[in-house]
Amino acid sequence: MGGGQESRRLHDARRAGVEVKSRGQRPRPGARTPRSEVIVALGSNLGDSANVLREAVIRLASLSARRLRRSSLWRSTPVDCPPGSPPFVNAAVAFEPTAGETPESLLARLQALEKEFGRRPKTILNEPRPLDLDLIAFGSEVRATSELTLPHPRAHQRRFVLEPLNEIAPALVLPGQTKSIREWLAELRTDEVVRRIPDTNSW
Ligand code: AMP
Repeated sequence: MGGGQESRRLHDARRAGVEVKSRGQRPRPGARTPRSEVIVALGSNLGDSANVLREAVIRLASLSARRLRRSSLWRSTPVDCPPGSPPFVNAAVAFEPTAGETPESLLARLQALEKEFGRRPKTILNEPRPLDLDLIAFGSEVRATSELTLPHPRAHQRRFVLEPLNEIAPALVLPGQTKSIREWLAELRTDEVVRRIPDTNSW
């Protein structure tokens, strides 16, 4: 990416309330994770995925009471997807919900955003999609309904969630668990290939 283009992106993202790092600067390890913090995992394997995630993060920042923290972009092999599915681009964000937001109201906003970015009702399980937003945690809230499970039940088993999340909230222990994100990642054994896309601290 050219220097001018990058600085314009940085400028646009900062104006939108996204905490961004300049090139080469790693996300702050051990970042504060207040009780009310929301964690959202993003994925895309259809269309211009990196751009979709950039735009989606700007929209998520508008749901945040404070500056949103975001990971780098990561590329990952599809997991539990139909044969021939394209690779994913993944990321994670952490933010503080606005007053009055509930896990249910936020999930509805995330689903509306998925639709806005072109997501259609699925015909095949885990088929390619322009945008997938998973609510990983909403502070210490716990849910087990047909619409919403919190914390997300598979987050700690997925490298494509743990790697980005480890950049922004390594010390986070999800409600009901005893291990931190960093610890889950260290002991995870899967054949997923998940690689950080270089120079995407400021995407
Ligand atoms: P997906 O195809 O992965 O986007 O799954 C979406 C479905 O999972 C929707 O029917 C949601 O109601 C449900 N769901 C349950 N828990 C969660 C969660 N923590 N985050 C996002 N979707 C969830």
